[in-house]
Amino acid sequence: MHPILQHLSQNPFLQKIVRQLFPPQCLYCKLLHDQLGVYLCQRCLSYLEPLKPRVLSPIMVTFPGRGPPVILIKKLKTHPDPQLASLLAAYMVIQYTKSSYPIPDLITAVPSHLLRRLHLGDNIAEMLGKEVAKLLQRPFVMLLKRQAQKVRQDLIPKEERLLLSSEEFMWIGNMSIKGQNILLIDDTVTTGSTLRCSALHLEKQGAHQVIQMGCVDQGYLKDERSHLHSFDEKRE
Ligand SMILES: [Zn+2]
Repeated sequence: MHPILQHLSQNPFLQKIVRQLFPPQCLYCKLLHDQLGVYLCQRCLSYLEPLKPRVLSPIMVTFPGRGPPVILIKKLKTHPDPQLASLLAAYMVIQYTKSSYPIPDLITAVPSHLLRRLHLGDNIAEMLGKEVAKLLQRPFVMLLKRQAQKVRQDLIPKEERLLLSSEEFMWIGNMSIKGQNILLIDDTVTTGSTLRCSALHLEKQGAHQVIQMGCVDQGYLKDERSHLHSFDEKRE
């Protein structure tokens, strides 16, 4: 919510006026509702439910790539609202606690592209990671950075993205992660290559286990079988 709106909404009388001037509307079904600063109506909110964690999947994805979660993550990308990040992170934590993974020693996020940082300022994965860390009461540390790259990843064809080398990532941690369980967060998962490359780097630094987690699916779950395949092949 805009800071001015937030300020005004604390006064009950002004709240009424603000509501009339800017009626809160559900981002998903467009229904008008009466809660200021809330992105979804009650009904759409009740549809938000984390997926069951899959045992064999190398990447845990919290939401399928359809419905209200997609709208919310898009909103977060264009309008980095900490409250929204915290809502999505809460569902990620619910899913995480349903998995068999241990409570991580430390939470980190995949680094964003320089171009994206210049353009939008915020790394959405980092925002989500920090909120997840707060909820799990574990430290959050950025451990990787991207090296200047010629091409933006979303401009590269999907097949080529799978082949992206891990060279574009750089270790910036000023601590040892030897033997630690690291929870690595990304916002959307398209091919999973960003998460995989980042995880490889953390493993190289001696992490015991890197648990890869994304908030919203963007095609990964559908192709998961083929990814599992290529993942296994790479490991051999
Ligand atoms: Zn709705």
